[in-house]
Amino acid sequence: MAERPYIVGNWKMNGTRAMLSEARAIDRASQRHMKVEVALAPPFTLIHAVHREVEQIGVGAQDCHALTEGAHTGDISAAMALDAGAKFVILGHSERRTNHGESDALIRDKVAAAREAGLQVILCCGESEAQRDAGEAEAHVLGQLKAALPESDNASEWLTVAYEPIWAIGTGRVPTTDDIAAMHGAIRGLLTDMYGDAAAETRILYGGSVKAENAAAILALADVDGALVGGASLTAEAFLGIVYAA
Ligand code: PGA
Repeated sequence: MAERPYIVGNWKMNGTRAMLSEARAIDRASQRHMKVEVALAPPFTLIHAVHREVEQIGVGAQDCHALTEGAHTGDISAAMALDAGAKFVILGHSERRTNHGESDALIRDKVAAAREAGLQVILCCGESEAQRDAGEAEAHVLGQLKAALPESDNASEWLTVAYEPIWAIGTGRVPTTDDIAAMHGAIRGLLTDMYGDAAAETRILYGGSVKAENAAAILALADVDGALVGGASLTAEAFLGIVYAA
């Protein structure tokens, strides 16, 4: 585990201004619990409002467009997310890959666009249940990362990787701690091959049905530097349970 675990809440398509009180409560508690780095990725519509409400925690976006501007109805550029108060963006989430047909090549372009705008990146990867059953999980995950990451760049300064097995997202099912540790070790190996010793500084988060009850065991594993949390980030009570377990 990293010296200062990184716990990121992904609100997905949840939240109206009524939820700002949850962000405020998370921020207040995080100010008193500085040994954990805490961040929230609300929907685009709340980025600016959450950014204004909080003092301590980081605020990020859940996606951005690969281009900087133009005739793209309904889309949001990295610079627009930054301007609203985001300091990072989650890219390549399996829900974007599945529901919006996002390819590794598109995600690579989005990573480049985010970097160009000055956003940090949380790059998601993860295998389906069929891929795990076929023994292809590691090859698939490393392939996703290789395809989306630039070859030579000082990635440790801006990159966080989130390993999220698709079958564990929102299902209450979690891989064994051995399987999580093995995948995180493989990801660290790839990052070291790509970026050298600096890859030791790149944070690798686990995501998929993390809650207060299982967080401590997962976060204690080697090469697990934090968690990306969906469902359990929607209330301050549930999310802070994970922050305190870290
Ligand atoms: P979950 O989602 O915690 O609800 O499983 C995790 C994620 O998709 O980031």
